[in-house]
Amino acid sequence: MPRLTIQRRLERRTVRITETGCLIWLGKLDKDGYGVMVIEGRQIPAHKASYEDSVGPVPSGLQLDHLCRVRCCVEPRHLEPVTCAENIRRGLTGKNMADRTHCPRNHPYDAANTYFNRKGARHCRLCKIERRRERRAELEAIGPVQGPQRKVGRRLGSKRLPVSQQTTALATGLEPKAAAPAHLFPAE
Ligand SMILES: [Zn+2]
Ligand SMILES: [Zn+2]
Repeated sequence: MPRLTIQRRLERRTVRITETGCLIWLGKLDKDGYGVMVIEGRQIPAHKASYEDSVGPVPSGLQLDHLCRVRCCVEPRHLEPVTCAENIRRGLTGKNMADRTHCPRNHPYDAANTYFNRKGARHCRLCKIERRRERRAELEAIGPVQGPQRKVGRRLGSKRLPVSQQTTALATGLEPKAAAPAHLFPAE
């Protein structure tokens, strides 16, 4: 039986998901859902074979992390060599991330409050705005800010709204569990 190249095996056993760019392994999966390639009776992780075939060996001591969180994806651009500790850290946050409806600061991951970075990771807009505001507060604590306040807000925040208004707009309805201000419910 002629030996198939990794490339040929990938061509035969994968399908491309247009929306995400994932290259889904259609062959055997292991118990954790990772693709398995059988080469001369030896089982090797399909994503590792794919990565090493197109990029090169995984640096020693590092593991491949699925940036797309799809374990049966073998797209090399969705794989990044990371340390074991980093992989576990990402696994703990990353694996649950897809199921999570709120960020660590309890802001909702809804359409308005969610953005994706170039690697496809999900982020919270409100947290980004809060981090900017915190950074600004730190800078102000250090010394006088260059130029008028308004300009700083516009430069650091959205193009349409200064940071303060943007935060207010996003915050509206985002904290349904927050206690209503006392004046809305005067004591009887
Ligand atoms: Zn993928
Ligand atoms: Zn957040």
